[in-house]
Amino acid sequence: MESAPAAQPAHQAVRRYNYPAQFGEDVQSLLEEIARLLVNGPYVLTEEVAWFETEFANYLGTEHARGVNTGTDALVIALLASGIRRGDEVITQANTFNATVTAICLSGARPVLVDADEESFLIAEAQVEPAISGKTRVLMPVHLYGKPTPLTSLLAVAEKHGLQLIEDAAQAHGARIHGRRVGTLGSLGCFSFHPSKNLAAAGDAGAVVTSSPDLDERVSRLRELGQAGQNNHVVIGLNSKMDALQALVLSWKLRTLDDCNERRRTVAGWYKERLGHLPLRFQSTAANEEHVYHLFQVRTDRRDALLDHLRQRGVDAVVRYPTPIHLQPAFADYGWRRGQYPVAERLADELLCLPIRPDMSVREVEYVTDAVAGFFQG
Ligand SMILES: *Cc1c(COP(=O)(O)O)cnc(C)c1O
Repeated sequence: MESAPAAQPAHQAVRRYNYPAQFGEDVQSLLEEIARLLVNGPYVLTEEVAWFETEFANYLGTEHARGVNTGTDALVIALLASGIRRGDEVITQANTFNATVTAICLSGARPVLVDADEESFLIAEAQVEPAISGKTRVLMPVHLYGKPTPLTSLLAVAEKHGLQLIEDAAQAHGARIHGRRVGTLGSLGCFSFHPSKNLAAAGDAGAVVTSSPDLDERVSRLRELGQAGQNNHVVIGLNSKMDALQALVLSWKLRTLDDCNERRRTVAGWYKERLGHLPLRFQSTAANEEHVYHLFQVRTDRRDALLDHLRQRGVDAVVRYPTPIHLQPAFADYGWRRGQYPVAERLADELLCLPIRPDMSVREVEYVTDAVAGFFQG
């Protein structure tokens, strides 16, 4: 079902993004670094990028990180680095952002979808092994909305069948499962630093991380047109290199990422406390995980009406994502049908994102939760 167009907000009472708050008072030192860079250059894949890569790898607790243009490129490069060939199959979930599946297609592989789990909104793990064929090469679960996929069983499945596991961690910077940061459990992890993400650049940027020197070397070549040393192109690659400007912004923000994620968890806690008595469901949480609440989702079969109600009251609620992958026109050639992934379809019809930001105040949360309560009482 297509969601109805949302009403225009009367006024913006509760925003989804607050860019000034991401910088705070101490922004002067960053501006000075940017000014120095602008005047002096060079601009692409500089030592600033190398510094960020080292800091980000250290933060995650892995060996290598490589900065690229976008999270989508990170996924394409990770797939190519894993040795994907045309016609190979990659298994992912039907409820993800378009980029996950677009990246699989761009790598030359064929996406094979499995349904979502009704409670965790993550990949339905039990459906992964039955989806494996002789052509499967990679499993690509998504840590969706900032919740870590518990990879223990999927890693065992990957090992048993000789597959690689690539994590789409574009929504889960800093999230932990059993004490380990996501992105570091599979053979490769992919991040986006799009301005909407928990670690946000001032434009597009992404990264591929790995603990394997061999995979890292391949990633490094693939982001630079397949070069192994200047003018020696050994594979067909992309031109996808992180800008120094983005690296400066990202290094600067990385210092407060854990604090920001902690505040997101606090806001999520306030939401759950104040909405717990209403006919809404939440993404489940599990022991031994640290969710980073990239999005805070509520689930209701009156979703579209609730969306209108909130937008009329100036709450910047949105639907992520109203159409599951298998029903997107771009993928019509794969022959997927309505009804094939029923949980993903239900989630697409019933999930609504409430605004969540690290700098959100209790008063803002109350404004939202009062509006939600008013909808169910009205
Ligand atoms: C944002 C996102 C991407 C793509 O990242 P871009 O930087 O926008 O290309 C991939 N997968 C998921 C799950 C995302 O949320």
